[in-house]
Amino acid sequence: VPVLAVVGRPNVGKSTLVNRIIGRREAVVEDRPGVTRDRVSYDATWNGRAFTVVDTGGWDPDARGLAERIAAQAEVAVSLADAVLFVVDATVGTTDADEAVVKILRKADKPVVLAANKVDDQRTEAEAYALWNLGLGEPWPVSAIHGRGSGDLLDAVLAVLPDPPPQDDVPVGGPRRIAIVGRPNVGKSSLLNKLAGSERVVVDDASGTTVDPVDELVELGGRTWRFIDTAGIRKRVKGASGQEYYASLRTSTAIERAEVAVLVVDGSQSISEQDQRIIQTVRESGRALVIAFNKWDLVDEERRYYLDREIERDLVQVPWAPRINITARTGWHVDRLVPALDRALEGWETRVSTGQLNSFLGRLVAEHPHPVRSGKQPKILFGTQSSVAPPTFVLFTSGKLEASYERYIERRLREEFGFVGSPIVLQQRPRE
Ligand code: GDP
Repeated sequence: VPVLAVVGRPNVGKSTLVNRIIGRREAVVEDRPGVTRDRVSYDATWNGRAFTVVDTGGWDPDARGLAERIAAQAEVAVSLADAVLFVVDATVGTTDADEAVVKILRKADKPVVLAANKVDDQRTEAEAYALWNLGLGEPWPVSAIHGRGSGDLLDAVLAVLPDPPPQDDVPVGGPRRIAIVGRPNVGKSSLLNKLAGSERVVVDDASGTTVDPVDELVELGGRTWRFIDTAGIRKRVKGASGQEYYASLRTSTAIERAEVAVLVVDGSQSISEQDQRIIQTVRESGRALVIAFNKWDLVDEERRYYLDREIERDLVQVPWAPRINITARTGWHVDRLVPALDRALEGWETRVSTGQLNSFLGRLVAEHPHPVRSGKQPKILFGTQSSVAPPTFVLFTSGKLEASYERYIERRLREEFGFVGSPIVLQQRPRE
């Protein structure tokens, strides 16, 4: 969803105008305990198009003078927004503070819509046109209080906001793409044979690549799925030099081409470093992950005890990955794969609205603020989910958040919104 930042010096009527845009009467400022006044973002729609409004009003809690506050607003607006709504009081005209904002906005490559506020009637409209001299294009005369001109203003805003791509960045259409990965002899091809065995199998050459991968389209649970590079699973290359290198190249290429990876692990053996390297590759490429513990027929009570310990120790990075226990050779519990894939893909494509996210962040910070380090306390000012698949969050902060605090945020995000089966990406944009 595109983001519109509203910028302007105090008392020009910014908050009233924001209320007008989002169609609410109550004050913009949320005064719930722990929610700082500067975290104000709202979901808005106009003519059927959704966008997020960020009121940069009280943005910088630490800045002293008016000039710093205004500069901080403009800076934030420029860095996070797709477009800027710059509000000027037409009855006052431009001040030095306004000119300072104009300078910053001119340098940035973001579209700006100029609102000349407090034009309550036709007589004062002329004052709005004096704002042409700011060099920001046409001033839109509005009365935030009465609503006069706000429709035209919003039309102008929509005209400069980028169109969201349909469905955002979710890969659209086509069967879901799955990569079955794991060490040799863990049972990958046994699993594939069980899945594809009796069903209709279509082999599809993905030509043009050096390793010449072959995908198979397999019908499971009434739907078609694309299994990536099954040649790499079915063909056993023996004794070739550099074999291991090519196998791992093949694995990472398959993961890159897939949406979800199924890591097959031999449950009767210890989780290996190679398993962990594959998990690392999945996380780095931002794909969804399901872990299948195969050869469950060989797992007795004692092995089970140790496996549970290994899972705790070696899979700490991916406690969110759905796990299934299967016996590929007999087909036992292989039917549990599809529901696990569905859950992982759902988590991978989960989207949280900016409003929900920021009220969640407000609660999180209230419950557990960032620790103070050498007299400073990093703060989260505003967050937005920039994409799905995998869910990616941009956090605007004052000061850099510690890694442990990032992990805390991730854990709480998962408790709140799920994201089962998917890595989460947190990007920090500290201002300073
Ligand atoms: P891949 O190299 O990962 O494709 O592994 P394969 O599917 O070729 O299996 C390697 C060996 O493990 C073969 O001898 C299989 O019969 C055996 N195997 C596969 N799945 C199971 C299972 O669930 N239980 C047992 N006991 N053996 C299995």
